[in-house]
Amino acid sequence: MKIGIVGSGFVGATAAYALVMRGVGREIVLVDANRERASAEADDIAHAVPFANALEVNDGEYADLVGARVVILAAGSNQKPGETRLQLLERNAKIFGEIIPQVLEHAPDARIVVATNPVDVMTHLAAHFAQQRGVPHSRVIGSGTTLDTARFRLLLARLTGIDTAHVHAYVLGEHGDSEVLTWSVATVANFPLEQFCAAHGIALSDEIRDDIDTRVRRAAYHIINGKGATYYGIGSALARITQAILNDQRAILTVSSCHDTVVGVKNVTLSLPQLVGGDGILDTYMPPLNDNEMRALKASAQVIRNAIDGLNLD
Ligand code: NAD
Repeated sequence: MKIGIVGSGFVGATAAYALVMRGVGREIVLVDANRERASAEADDIAHAVPFANALEVNDGEYADLVGARVVILAAGSNQKPGETRLQLLERNAKIFGEIIPQVLEHAPDARIVVATNPVDVMTHLAAHFAQQRGVPHSRVIGSGTTLDTARFRLLLARLTGIDTAHVHAYVLGEHGDSEVLTWSVATVANFPLEQFCAAHGIALSDEIRDDIDTRVRRAAYHIINGKGATYYGIGSALARITQAILNDQRAILTVSSCHDTVVGVKNVTLSLPQLVGGDGILDTYMPPLNDNEMRALKASAQVIRNAIDGLNLD
């Protein structure tokens, strides 16, 4: 039950902390180009163990990933002032070109969970490098819109006064500006959202929908403006995905993975509701979306495909 985390900055370290708090796995190894940072984070998180669950938390080298069942990739740079997204993508692609061969050399059977942004394109790239080493696409899983789905469920839970556990609603497509909030298939306490709201006198006007849409779609901008980075939400999402894999839970999560064709767009990596278990992605369940949502999903898939084209992989 070893978990490797490559990139122990805000996101990687918070994922490790969330794993300790949830009691997922038995051992965590933090690997980072900045070994001093990895060592400091490992010590700080290990000091939480006596208050939480019995995990070993250490920093290490790639060789220490031997036997890891899951390796989370959270290494990467953030956008520099004046830098385009494509330039950032090129830099992060170079980092993945260095990391993935080393991860797979030491942990060839690991399920790879990608968080580095732009996460859908980075997951596509990781799957591409992994496939060159015989690893199937189903074992390379992007965090995708798991975080956006959590944000959507949270806001619907607040609107309806029902705990998030009983609110089912998905954000699909790109983890980014073109993502699609699938209102038409949202349910609360087993009722279609609109029906639930109508029956309980809860207003669900276009203004309210627009407000929720903006707060989900623009959440990262708001948080980054206020505190510089987002990490608690994504750290928790990464721990949840890892738990689903390690416990072979067969959970439905809106993770990102490579699909032959989605709504007519070929060879594209994006988020759909997927069955996640011990072997990684076991199946995909495309919900019965309405025409507007289908059109938006196709546009979102095309945004990602255009970015993948920029990498000149094929
Ligand atoms: P950070 O700068 O705090 O951490 C990045 C870490 O990667 C650093 O510690 C750095 O030393 C390490 N690193 C860089 N190159 C490396 C290499 N070649 N090998 C090993 N380690 C290397 O950044 P952060 O805030 O933790 O964000 C990490 C990534 O996660 C970014 O790409 C960010 O955009 C992304 N992110 C994704 C989501 C999501 O929902 N998917 C949410 C938040 C952040």
